Amino acid sequence: KPVIIIVIGMAGTGKTTLMHRLVCDMQASNKRGYVVNLDPAVMTLPFGANIDIRDTVRYKDVMKEYGLGPNGGILTSLNLFATKFDEVVSVIERRADQLDYVLVDTPGQIEIFTWSASGAIITEAFASTFPTVVAYVVDTPRSTSPVTFMSNMLYACSILYKTRLPLVLTFNKVDVAKHEFAIEWMEDFEAFQTALESDKSYSATYTRSLSLVLDEFYKNLRSVGVSAVAGTGVSTFYEAVEASAKEYMETYRADLDKRI
Ligand code: GDP
Ligand code: MG
Repeated sequence: KPVIIIVIGMAGTGKTTLMHRLVCDMQASNKRGYVVNLDPAVMTLPFGANIDIRDTVRYKDVMKEYGLGPNGGILTSLNLFATKFDEVVSVIERRADQLDYVLVDTPGQIEIFTWSASGAIITEAFASTFPTVVAYVVDTPRSTSPVTFMSNMLYACSILYKTRLPLVLTFNKVDVAKHEFAIEWMEDFEAFQTALESDKSYSATYTRSLSLVLDEFYKNLRSVGVSAVAGTGVSTFYEAVEASAKEYMETYRADLDKRI
């Protein structure tokens, strides 16, 4: 069965560019991939999508028809698409023997996917049928301040607990800023405390307790540094995905089988 990689991240972190990089890499290394685009508002994609939400719903028409703004239009389009998602899963199931990976790009506004009923329906539809992992993309150069870093990690943490799926923290744009500082902060609690103390605007006790929570969170995931533009770190990314798929079988899948 193929591994489903759901690519999630804040707008501008490089999700679409990373998808493109991963598609090119699969073609070069003879891995068989399938690409799903769930962003109804994207103008052009640098890669060809096998399944594209834009073929089914036109978000501008949805906006007009229901009298919605852009965000409401995107959310309603995703809701409409979610009602037919069993068909998407069937299409992939029919090709399962011929596929190694299914890459899924999500809407630009992260909360439309992570905090909507349809996002949950789509995620669960994948995860109940295939090994599924979340790639949480981080804009590394924009996360170098300890407070920004912490809020970004809290967001990733909420996604981990909401989806219960294995998560690969994907530090993108390492061509601009290396992600070593992030690894250091995640591995060394004291180093992160020292960095935080230089920011006087934060209450020491609040940040201390938050970073204790995060310390527990870091133990539950894998992190990799990539550059979607330069192509560095792609093989490490796939290794983390494989390890996460194994973890899916041991945790999520085992839980699911118990419930059935
Ligand atoms: P999305 O909104 O998450 O889909 O982000 P995009 O893929 O559209 O990328 C947003 C911007 O970040 C674009 O200008 C990309 O060229 C740039 N970008 C993406 N990946 C990288 C990277 O690895 N390095 C650098 N320097 N820029 C990148
Ligand atoms: Mg995008």
